[in-house]
Amino acid sequence: MSRIKFFHEEDLPLEMHKVRIVQKLNLAPIERRLQAINEAGNNTFLLRNRDIFLDMLTDSGVNAMSDQQLAAMMVADDSYAGSESFFKLAAKVEEIFGKKYFIPAHQGRACENIISQVFVTKGSIVPMNYHFTTTKAHITLNGGTVEEVVIDEALVLNSTHPFKGNVDIDKLRAVIQKNGAKKIAFVRLEAGTNLIGGQPFSLENMREVRKVCDEFGLLLVLDASLLADNLYFIKVREEQCKHWSIREITRAIADLSDIIYFSARKLGCARGGGICTNNQAAFEKMRELVPLYEGFLTYGGMSIREIEAITVGLEETMDEEMINQGPEFIAFMVEEFQKKGVPVVTPPGGLGCHLNAMEFVEHLPQTQYPAGALASAVYLISGVRGMERGTLSEQRDENGEECFADVELLRLALPRRVFTLSQIKYTVDRIAWLYENRHLIGGLTFVEEPKILRFFCGRLATTSDWQNKLVAQFRKDFGDNL
Ligand SMILES: *Cc1c(COP(=O)(O)O)cnc(C)c1O
Repeated sequence: MSRIKFFHEEDLPLEMHKVRIVQKLNLAPIERRLQAINEAGNNTFLLRNRDIFLDMLTDSGVNAMSDQQLAAMMVADDSYAGSESFFKLAAKVEEIFGKKYFIPAHQGRACENIISQVFVTKGSIVPMNYHFTTTKAHITLNGGTVEEVVIDEALVLNSTHPFKGNVDIDKLRAVIQKNGAKKIAFVRLEAGTNLIGGQPFSLENMREVRKVCDEFGLLLVLDASLLADNLYFIKVREEQCKHWSIREITRAIADLSDIIYFSARKLGCARGGGICTNNQAAFEKMRELVPLYEGFLTYGGMSIREIEAITVGLEETMDEEMINQGPEFIAFMVEEFQKKGVPVVTPPGGLGCHLNAMEFVEHLPQTQYPAGALASAVYLISGVRGMERGTLSEQRDENGEECFADVELLRLALPRRVFTLSQIKYTVDRIAWLYENRHLIGGLTFVEEPKILRFFCGRLATTSDWQNKLVAQFRKDFGDNL
């Protein structure tokens, strides 16, 4: 069941869980928020939690955990080597994905480090539906190049295509033929494609990708960090899978993959990561790097308690009523924004709701980081923290030139089972107000710009006095309300 029928009201997504532990939130007045965002260099990553009302930065490591996960953490078998908790997780991974070799790592990017170091060399090409920030950084660091082969529709922000994360098979073939199969390190498929709005690929498309990999003898690597959302979308959007269980869909995807890696900060709702495969040679090469970067092979940089929580979290991910919570709440948020005319990415994806900054602040050129400016403005007027997913999240090229992003998005992540419907309504309402006053939003410029992954720690200043004007308008419309 995806949405509960109401008799007198329009249908709403319904929480299939109850809240048993709460954390008090603080909504600081707008004047304090103005100070805070400036202290943070207009970078929402640098805000402090105490200044944030609703944290929609990411779903990473902040999904709500279940009572069963917390209970499992209490029976962790702590030991440096040979922990039973590790073997439980490895067994669960084998049960769900059908892969007998499991490599633990402290988070998703640690898996990317290991995979890139083993398979990427200078001159390597890695075709993929779309890049992710840390993935691209690791591939580039090892001398490789990312080639995106996603369907054109992926970058059409308002579309009805149910699977915007699909690979364009012709583009994939062209990349392989142009470079020669020898140069292809592996083909990477990202579930719930993060940077284009949490958009899924279809099982049908993955089968086509597999065929091409077989034809050229290439490894297919699945980034399963956002698999939960992708599974749900396959279930509800792909006709042939309508009557399949989540477990069956998962297995079908896994059977098409040579190597699967995931951030357990997302998949499994805890904190950690891992790589699994049936390819013994690949396993043995990757395994060597674990003690060097992560820790011993039976914990891989994770706390044993988290390992217990991931095992339970993976099992819970096979429950449709659990994994529908993210996508259904996101769809609701997207629809509410649409009713108010606020530009959002459609169809709704997983992970979060994505505002289209290119349209929201169309008066700002990409050189002034429209999505970053929007992130700063949204925090200022609501206390809601989102994440820039646009040009700021890109790196300059080797000549120091700006690489403009294909799309400028402000992501409002909905960590799974964390926010209530009224909190989502508050967010939509404040942002709809901002949209009406969007002409007041100005640009940003770097004052401190790190070379690698600059969006994490870079600091920016406003290009004009626009924030004070926004505060004045806010006070005019909301009086002394927060
Ligand atoms: C978050 C994420 C990663 C990196 O995982 P971390 O645990 O944050 O290091 C990799 N790929 C995708 C698709 C992600 O969403």
